[in-house]
This record gives sequence, C-alpha cells and structure tokens, in this order.
Amino acid sequence: GETLERHEFGAEVGRLLDLVVHALYTEREIFLRELVANAADAVDRRRFEALTDPALGMPAETALRIVPDKPARTLRIADPGIGMSKAELAEHLGTIARSGTLAFTRALAERPAAERPSLIGQFGVGFYSAFMVAERVEVTSRRAGSEEAWTWASEGKGDYTLAPATRAEPGTDVVLHLKPEAEEFLEPFRLQAIIRKWADHITIPILVTHDGKDEPANEGTALWRKPKAEVSEASYTEFYRHLGHVFDTPWAVLHWRAEGALDFAALLFIPGMKPFQAVEGERESRVRLHVRRMFITDQAALLPPWLRFVHGVVDTEDLPLNVSREMLQATPVLARIRRAVTGRVLSELKTRAKDAADYAKFWENFGPILKEGVWEDAEHRQDVAALLRFRSSAVEGWTSLADYVARMKPGQEQIYVLVGEDPAALAKSPQLEGFRARGVEVLLLTDQIDAFWPERLDAFEGKPIRSITQGTVDLSKLGEGGAGEAGGEAADLTALLPRLQEALKDAVSAVRATDRLVDSAAVLAAPEHGPDLQLQRLMRRAGR
Ligand code: ADP
Ligand code: MG
Repeated sequence: GETLERHEFGAEVGRLLDLVVHALYTEREIFLRELVANAADAVDRRRFEALTDPALGMPAETALRIVPDKPARTLRIADPGIGMSKAELAEHLGTIARSGTLAFTRALAERPAAERPSLIGQFGVGFYSAFMVAERVEVTSRRAGSEEAWTWASEGKGDYTLAPATRAEPGTDVVLHLKPEAEEFLEPFRLQAIIRKWADHITIPILVTHDGKDEPANEGTALWRKPKAEVSEASYTEFYRHLGHVFDTPWAVLHWRAEGALDFAALLFIPGMKPFQAVEGERESRVRLHVRRMFITDQAALLPPWLRFVHGVVDTEDLPLNVSREMLQATPVLARIRRAVTGRVLSELKTRAKDAADYAKFWENFGPILKEGVWEDAEHRQDVAALLRFRSSAVEGWTSLADYVARMKPGQEQIYVLVGEDPAALAKSPQLEGFRARGVEVLLLTDQIDAFWPERLDAFEGKPIRSITQGTVDLSKLGEGGAGEAGGEAADLTALLPRLQEALKDAVSAVRATDRLVDSAAVLAAPEHGPDLQLQRLMRRAGR
C-alpha cells in the first residue's frame, strides 16, 4: 500500500542474520526460546511500568500464546506485554544497539558448537534467530498507552517494511511464515516439548493452541520457591543460563529460604566464568526482586556493587505487590534483606575459600571486584579482607592475609605490600631487594583497585598494611641485609645525599639513605603521607 515504508537494515544486521542462520542451524529450535523470552520480558516490563503509570494498565490475563496454523504454515507468538511503538520497532528490530557483529563472530569461532545456542541470547540478537526457521517474519505491535499499532515485516534479506496496522489490545504478535523444511514447528507436541526444555522456569503461563484449545506448556512454578531437594542440578544450571544470558556452569548455587523476622526465598549464582562483555561502568547489582513470585525490578540493588557478579532472584512476602519505586528506596524491609543476602554470600565464599584450588577459580574471575568491598564498605571490610588472595614474593600461587601473618618473621609488625601493574615485573623490582635479603615476605598487588584499598584497611589481625614504596621502612629489626655494615654505609652517604638533593632539586622532595637495597643504587619512594607510587602513576595517566 501507499503507507508502506521500506527501510534498510543497519549495516551490521545483514551480516549478523547470515551468521545466525548458518552458525546455529543445528539448534534451530532455540528460536522459540528467544521469542518466548522476549515476550515474557515484555510482560514483566509492562507490569513494572504500570506500577508508576496506571494508564498502561495490566490485562487480566498475562498468558503468552503460541498458535500454529498448518494450512497457512505460520506460527504466531502473541504477548500482552509493553509492545513497541513505530520508532521502537525500527530501533529494536532494525539495528543492533549494544553488541557488535564482530564480538559475536569471535565468540562463535572460539566457543564449542554446544555453546552456540546460548551465545545468541547473550549478545542480544535473539530476535534474529526467527530467520533460521522463517522465510518471512511479521511483527505487529501496539505500545501500552497508545492507540497506534504498526507491522514490521522482513524476509531477513537486507531490508524491512513498516506499515500501519490494528491491534485490539496493547502487546505484540510475532508471525513466522515458516520455511518448508521447518514445518515440524507447527506440531503442538513439538512446540510443547521445546517450551518444557527451554522455558519451563518462565512464570507467566505459556499456552500452545492444539485443536482449537489452549494447552499450558510450562509448569510455571518459580524454581526458587521449590524445596532444594526437589531441584536438580540441571534445572539450576538452565535457570542460571536463562537469567544471565550465559552458557557456563555456575561456580556456586545458593538456594535458601528465610523465615521469621524476614520472609524471603533466594536463589543466587556465582558464575563459573567472567562475563564475555564486561559491562564497563555498570556497577549496580542486577539481582532480581520478586514479590510473591511476581517480578518487580532488577534495580533494587539487593547486593552491594562489590558483589555485582552474583546473579539471581530474591522473592519476598514482606512487600506489597504494588510497591512503588519510591517505596523501594525507603523501605527498611529491603535494607534488612540486603544485609541478610550479603551476609549469606560472604559466608558461602568463606566456606568455599577453604578449598584453595576451587577458590582460585572464583578469585581469578572476580577477585578485583570483591576488593572494592574493602575500599568502600566499612561494615564488611574485615570480612572481605579475609577473602582476598595475593601473589607473594615468597610463595607460589595465591596466599591470604591470614597465611601471610602466620609466616611473618619474629619482630615483623607490618604486612608489606608492593603495588604495581605486572606481576612478573614486580617480582623483579629493586624495591624488594632488602626484603628478600632478610627473608621478609612482600605481597605483590597488580589490580587497578590495589592502588586504593590498602589505605582503607588499616590493619588485618592487628597488623597494619604497609606499602614498601611509601615513606621510610625500617628493616633494621628484621636482620642483616647482606650488603655489609649499615652504619658504615650511612657514614659514606652523608656527603652524597645533600649533593643528590641539590642535583635533583624540584624533581624529588627528599633523598634518604635506605637499608632496603642490596644490588641497586637507588629506588623511588612516595612521601609518607599522600598518594603512593602506583596511585601517582594512575593519576598521571588520567591527566591529573
Ligand atoms: P534482547 O532480548 O537481548 O534485547 P532481542 O534481539 O531478542 O535482544 O530483542 C531485541 C529487542 O526487541 C528487545 O530488547 C526488545 O526491546 C524488543 N522486543 C523483542 N520482542 C519484543 C516483544 N515481544 N515485545 C516488546 N519488545 C520486544
Ligand atoms: Mg531477547
């Protein structure tokens, strides 16, 4: 018709479509998982937005419908969710916003075939998987709060069209014109089996039309509400993968029920892998808050930022279903849940830390994030400090502060640390000479955050943390340095020091004799008070 608008796909979409269709061909059935996930997300979003904008309304029935039509060879997925405006159709289905084709291609190449189906969800390209089974896709959508509906249509070959449409209620219909070789997806039994396999944990009812009747396809029970004994490891893993859009196996599964003063169920996961796309800048915890099973928000900051790698769900009885955003900020119930959930995660880490090899897997993925807790969380500082692991000048592998303290030399009163960037370079640093010569261990810190937190943790087990590049470190009590008589040397230096000071003038604030060198002639040190060397480096790099 004359109102039909034709648009080119964003440049990346064309290539991506090709990739998705070819790389994932053996796992075609996941297109249904992706479309159902989108539909369920849309219902969740409408419900949440309706809390603050009642005009959006919530339909009495929230079910998703999957309607196969054999004579027409179409499959329709219908949801009463938030819907999309014309602009949103073009933006969400015509461009790739967050993730690039390149990253996706690389991931496809690097990962074994079995992991490919999960990649598609992780890279935010789920919708395009429809073209694995469809020769044409039509999406008719009406945004909640609007009267207008639009149909987006494409054959997945470089362009799409937009045309005005009608839809009685807000929500979205995705209609797939199936390829001849994809007719199996018109069989209600096949569709039900796919839903049970991939989408059983979705708590919105999913109905498959069979002989004119709607049959429920998912159990729809909230996994986290089941007793632990009734949940298999495989269900935990599938749910975890769905939640986080990831494909690994969780390193830890925490599933418990709190009853009494607080009433909530929690199911939390610590990933077994670092996420593919490290979300730079994003520091909020995305643990989902449910109230009596209903999803409310993933922005309730249920865990502190330094535990933001934890995924999962907390479902409480202690808040009203129509809880508002303002109330979420103010209610003491959430503060108490936060404290309980944070404590539980910390105690799990403490228990798992007893197995060093097992804990190292966690530490190498998320250690730098956990360290932020020492910097910014006074309440948990000491608990987090006990969970930290370090490289050391004296031992192989990872070591803890407690182990370091246990190895301290008689007379040693401080925990010595050297902060820098590269572990290999640090291990060779002249700063260590005097310590090595006296058999004094130094912890080697190489994460960015290491320039900051030691200053906040005054002491561990009563032993102050001491950067060896800051101020003067007196090693005389810890034995002979090996480079001859310290007294004699000091005498030789009295003439030299003022001359060095004069020569270096404004470049340094002081030149001092030290007993912490053996082979090297000089090292830099930061003043006693003020930024340490590594922090100065970071500040210079940031242009300050
Ligand atoms: P992702 O779900 O990871 O964002 P998709 O390719 O699956 O990536 O979907 C792209 C976007 O299209 C979604 O983020 C959402 O904004 C929009 N979308 C897709 N399906 C629907 C739907 N049924 N209702 C509302 N919005 C949808
Ligand atoms: Mg999706």
